[in-house]
Amino acid sequence: MKTIQIQDKTFATFLTENEILKEVKRVASEINRDMAGKDPVFLCVLNGSFMFASDLMKEIDFPCNLSFVKLASYEGVSSTGTVKQLIGINGYIKGRAVVVVEDIVDTGHTMVNLLETLKAYEPSEVRICTLLCKPEKLQVKLDIDYVALNIPNDFIVGYGLDCDGYGRNYRDIYKIVENK
Ligand code: 5GP
Ligand code: MG
Repeated sequence: MKTIQIQDKTFATFLTENEILKEVKRVASEINRDMAGKDPVFLCVLNGSFMFASDLMKEIDFPCNLSFVKLASYEGVSSTGTVKQLIGINGYIKGRAVVVVEDIVDTGHTMVNLLETLKAYEPSEVRICTLLCKPEKLQVKLDIDYVALNIPNDFIVGYGLDCDGYGRNYRDIYKIVENK
């Protein structure tokens, strides 16, 4: 098992790139099955979903649009409880099917906030696609249409996800090693 160091924290391999890509492909095939012919907009939530979105979109085999929003709710390794939208959504959502592409659903507050914001743009339908979900931490009722991997309640980095801005570049996903 490989370990990496980010500032004062140690992380150990949790999911390898191959394990991740296998589930990304599965989720993509579900989306291909469900959304072909609907001309959807994939709305990727920056920064964390950039690597997932890239691998996911390469597997999507029908005409679609791709756009990005930027949200922030985390400082360090614990939720600040507040959710801020940093980059807005444009008008082309009206009447369109939307697939939100997120890195991880933790408490679920970010997603609820985003869904609420999206409603004002009058999409015909909104589906949620997340790389990771921590079911034990979910604090809200949320129907997640596509989940690549359910994970336990550990802080993770890599494959787009960060710890204070570092660690997004790793191919694999690492989980924090308990402080002794
Ligand atoms: P929520 O609003 O669902 O509690 O948090 C969602 C956001 O918090 C995610 O989009 C992600 O940016 C961040 N987040 C939640 N859990 C983790 C984690 O284990 N590692 C990292 N790096 N970010 C996380
Ligand atoms: Mg995110």
